Amino acid sequence: MNGSDATGSLPPETNWFSTATNVTHEIFLSPPWLPDRTQAFDPEPYADALARAGVQAVEFYCKDHNGLCYYRTAHGPSSKRDLVGPLIEALHARGIKFFAYVSAGYDAFALARHPDWRVVDREGRPRVVAPPLELVCFRSPYREYLLHQIKELVEGYPIDGLWLDIIPLAWPGPHTDSHLNDPDAESDFFMVHDVPLPCACSSCLEQFALEQDRPLPLEPTPDDQYDIFQFGVRGVSRLLHGARDLLRRARPDAIYTYNGSGCPGDPIDIGDIVSIEAHAPEYVFQSFAARWARGHGRSMEILTPGGLDGWMTPQAKPAALMQLEAAVAGVHGATAVVGRVIGSDGSWDQAHLDDLSAVYGAERSLADSRRESTSCPEVLVASTIHAASAPASWSPMAKGLEFWHAALLQGHIQYDIGNLERDLADYRLIVLPDQRAMSAAEVAIVERFVEDGGSCIVTGQTSLYWEDGSARADFALGKMLGVRYLGRSGVPFAYLTVREGALGGELAGRRLIIDREPLLFDPLDNETLAVANVPVFGPIDPYIIAWGYPEPTERRTQPLIVGHGTGRGSTTYVGVAFDEGPQRPGSPGRGFGGAWLRRLAITLTVSALGEPLLVTNAGAAVEVVLGRHRSGFTIDLLDHAVGWPDRLLPELGQGTVGDIRLRLDRDRLGLVSRARGVTGATVPTTVEGHWLDVAVPAFNVHARLFID
Ligand SMILES: [Zn+2]
Repeated sequence: MNGSDATGSLPPETNWFSTATNVTHEIFLSPPWLPDRTQAFDPEPYADALARAGVQAVEFYCKDHNGLCYYRTAHGPSSKRDLVGPLIEALHARGIKFFAYVSAGYDAFALARHPDWRVVDREGRPRVVAPPLELVCFRSPYREYLLHQIKELVEGYPIDGLWLDIIPLAWPGPHTDSHLNDPDAESDFFMVHDVPLPCACSSCLEQFALEQDRPLPLEPTPDDQYDIFQFGVRGVSRLLHGARDLLRRARPDAIYTYNGSGCPGDPIDIGDIVSIEAHAPEYVFQSFAARWARGHGRSMEILTPGGLDGWMTPQAKPAALMQLEAAVAGVHGATAVVGRVIGSDGSWDQAHLDDLSAVYGAERSLADSRRESTSCPEVLVASTIHAASAPASWSPMAKGLEFWHAALLQGHIQYDIGNLERDLADYRLIVLPDQRAMSAAEVAIVERFVEDGGSCIVTGQTSLYWEDGSARADFALGKMLGVRYLGRSGVPFAYLTVREGALGGELAGRRLIIDREPLLFDPLDNETLAVANVPVFGPIDPYIIAWGYPEPTERRTQPLIVGHGTGRGSTTYVGVAFDEGPQRPGSPGRGFGGAWLRRLAITLTVSALGEPLLVTNAGAAVEVVLGRHRSGFTIDLLDHAVGWPDRLLPELGQGTVGDIRLRLDRDRLGLVSRARGVTGATVPTTVEGHWLDVAVPAFNVHARLFID
């Protein structure tokens, strides 16, 4: 079937999205109390405006959250006028692709008529993620209703892609919109909707009993939760496969995706592109999502609202901010897809579109080199997430990846994020940050890497579970690390002290808070680099607790960071998962989170690497990305601070960051000697020993240099 891979996804070479850089997400909602809303919508001037702005593809609301379809359907309500047909014609006439957006999980019209189609908890209360919209259950007859609507769309209209929204996919955790054990977790942020554990609608009750031969447990044990999750995922999978089959049959070249497709928690993973929401001002997270997506080996979009305060806000983002987001995604090969709201009279914000057009112009060099650029890493932040078979682990494992990503980004280390099934020849160091679930094959890959002379940093519970989520008695990587697992320490946090003289001495004597439970392990013959001091617990004056953390005690000390050489390589084991806690990096005014721990992570990394490939005096807010490009290299510098909410946003093109110098290792990059900017202008360089020194010209938001 049209050259698709084993998962049925279109390969990048036949996937038009792989070269699309200027894509918008056009939000068009028509609530029933505005019956004439669509009447003023005129596809011709609308398509003209998009073409003038340089837009290459639009994701357009064909069915909105109210359940209203803007095309002809015999199932459910549709607009008086067919908008989709004339719109596709107008866009195609201007060379613009049409990606058909369908609200799958929200349909207010259908649920008002069929309350039994809602996701409900065991008390029968509907699940409300974004008030007043209630979530539909894909196990209910709604699935067939929706597939009929999709069939009419894909068969009746020459769409270039199908984009489904509001898909409950993942095991609940801090990355999802509801949290199993921690209701206070990050409620203002999510990566993906979670699967209800359980949904107690009549369809789920009936089908669970039929498929599992027992009643749906309404007060599930952890084992029950696993079964309920798999049951829920099968329901969602039937919808996602059903919709894709309809699309493939009618439009073999059209691309298929859904919100959350290919994200770390997606257990189904059948989209043709990776689609992840990542919003400003979380630029560090946007960079994570883009790097993750590149590691996934598919074309990718990072979805971001065009409004300052969310998807529906009429207050548009300034151009400089949108340029930062476009560049953060773009340097990692992803497309930043910016949301735009179409007004109730069919009008749009022309100033915002003009700004977007200016951004496309400013980032044209990225667009031009998309196919020719790859990363140039020396570290792999390795994921062994098994979202389908070990679902409960995906979110903490993603947290581990995010922490090391934030640290390495701010330390200007060159790295990839992704799985171990790849050519590891580029990497000198593999970091496994709390990658709990690991298969025997993954363990063998890491062991071979270290035997062959590579270095490895392993943290927390890495390899303590099989890929099906069941526990191992000891670390599967224990032999390589030379450590033996002894169990949980039972303390919720501890203090970390770096041994005098260890790790370059920079952090020695400082008291760092580890806001996670340290594990107990036997360090065997390893050198101990840092220890954990367990805090004083017991009857403590509440005053002390109210003001902070109980003081550490010297009486209970355990090894926390140990290291040794093995084969030709070296290993470091950290007996705790470093984590940002509830704070995210890159967001001023939201606390410092793991600031010291990020410094420690950089120290461990540099200690394992020796001299990094690229050294710079750039501040931590500047992301520096080395890439390969034709016979030479690219260096991208991204000033995240330009988009911090408490900063006055600059005009597009004003220089704000200066005096940045870079040093590149010519021993490893070849005898590079010249640098130029995107306009071809020469950038001053000097060669000193095996280093090429580059003086980066002052820049605003994003600079790109070519080195050869
Ligand atoms: Zn249900």
